[in-house]
Amino acid sequence: MEKKITIAIDGFSSTGKSTIAKLLAKEYNYVYVDTGAMYRAVTLYAFQNNFVGTSFLAKDKLIEHLDDIDLDFQYDEKKGFAEIYLNGENVEQQIRTLEISNLVSKVATISEVRRKLVIEQHKMGAKGGIVMDGRDIGTVVFPNAELKLYMTASAETRAQRRYKELIDKGEKVTYDEVLQNVNSRDEMDSNRKDSPLVKADDAIEFDNSDMSIEEQFKSICDLINNILS
Ligand code: C5P
Repeated sequence: MEKKITIAIDGFSSTGKSTIAKLLAKEYNYVYVDTGAMYRAVTLYAFQNNFVGTSFLAKDKLIEHLDDIDLDFQYDEKKGFAEIYLNGENVEQQIRTLEISNLVSKVATISEVRRKLVIEQHKMGAKGGIVMDGRDIGTVVFPNAELKLYMTASAETRAQRRYKELIDKGEKVTYDEVLQNVNSRDEMDSNRKDSPLVKADDAIEFDNSDMSIEEQFKSICDLINNILS
């Protein structure tokens, strides 16, 4: 039987993890799971129910309602990747706004939320043949992944990428707001108690500030082919 490995991709926000992950999933016919979308969807639910806002987090209320949150990924043939559904509704667009980006790291500090999502991530990756990106994939979710990548790039490069994405989608944001969001998420994600973003000892680091997608893709495919051979 063909060998199917687990590829864990971690790193700061907007380091191009999902772009590379989608390309790899396509190349090897693996399943791609965007765990950031899961944390964002829980945050959207919390926001819609008034459990989180700029200056508050009703942690106990959210924990009480965690069982009411049903997340599902459905593959979109045309787009070539799976989109996230929150309680039956496609929320792919709604979870990517700066409003949700500004709240998600706060929600991601809650251990009960992480526990729920990690259980689902384990189920999705149980058979291998998966590319999963996030912050704790190589350290907590799949510490035995055959390939672990850790992506970095300067905060300015990342903010510029995210700013362009949001503007292209028609959001009214400034570069400074986006840079501030990138910096504050980095800070919260790296310093939280439960499953902080850290480079796994055996992860391979890619600083892609000055690296094209093609260059990264080629180097990573070489690594994968080496493991598969
Ligand atoms: O990957 P993305 O930038 O969409 O992730 C949004 C946020 O979700 C991160 O800034 C982080 O707070 C949280 N997250 C996490 N653990 C993961 C994936 C995302 O805490 N595995």
